[in-house]
Amino acid sequence: MLYPAIDVRCAADDLLYAALDDHSPTAIEERSNSVRVFFGTAEARDAAARVIGEQFPVSPIDVPDEDWARRSQLNLQPIAVGRILIVPRPEFPSPPVPDQITIVIQPSMGFGTGHHATTRMCLEGMQATSLRGKVVLDVGTGSGVLAIAAARLGAARAIGLDVDLDAIQSARENLTLNPEASGVSFELVDVRAMPLPVSDLVVANLTGALLVRAAPALLAAVAPGGRLLVSGVLKDERADVVRALRGATVEWERSEDEWTALAVKKR
Ligand code: SAH
Repeated sequence: MLYPAIDVRCAADDLLYAALDDHSPTAIEERSNSVRVFFGTAEARDAAARVIGEQFPVSPIDVPDEDWARRSQLNLQPIAVGRILIVPRPEFPSPPVPDQITIVIQPSMGFGTGHHATTRMCLEGMQATSLRGKVVLDVGTGSGVLAIAAARLGAARAIGLDVDLDAIQSARENLTLNPEASGVSFELVDVRAMPLPVSDLVVANLTGALLVRAAPALLAAVAPGGRLLVSGVLKDERADVVRALRGATVEWERSEDEWTALAVKKR
């Protein structure tokens, strides 16, 4: 399956979005030096390419990734979890809901736009207890969404770690779009290689296998009386992860689709 699209070589800007509005794009992906815009038909794409091409450098392209267009369509939608609303762009209009916290996460940058069940369950688990004044460690921060959310939920410090330099760069960029999130920093760190900074809440949205391996390091990073919130666990992996987290009591748990997230309290 091929998706008709155009690559517009420019930074995403209002002028472009306004011009695109007339052509009913089905999805928009903001890339590092261009904006990729998908259309329902090749005819719609060709018409848009002609008109947009008068204002911007445009190349038509057929994108062979079915899942991609679906995800980028989703990425245009804001996501609400409890008090948190994640929007894809700073200028995205968010409904005025009392007590709501709006966070900007650019869809194209790093994993973690809030559209994945594992991320949403973390955002829910992070709101199950107060983070006010707490230190939060986000292991495998991706887009930085959970660290930024922690700061907006009142954490005094939030540290996001990732093994992927692109993720760290995108997390830092997302942080600049969220000036109200203070006390947040991002570092290039492999969870398997280092003792982690001790924190009141450690969040780790990884994989079941990595959580099993990293369990001792993750638990060691939890301050006495603190919590570890893990996600990215397939239902089949739950028992192994709980076994690896021995010494801690499961306090909170959610499942969505094939995924499970759980929070344990350190004795
Ligand atoms: N926290 C975000 C992203 C989760 S995706 C969210 O909840 O949506 C998992 C992230 O873990 C990826 O960005 C990946 O680069 C990172 N990761 C994978 N292995 C890692 C490791 N060994 N150490 C640190 N980060 C790791």
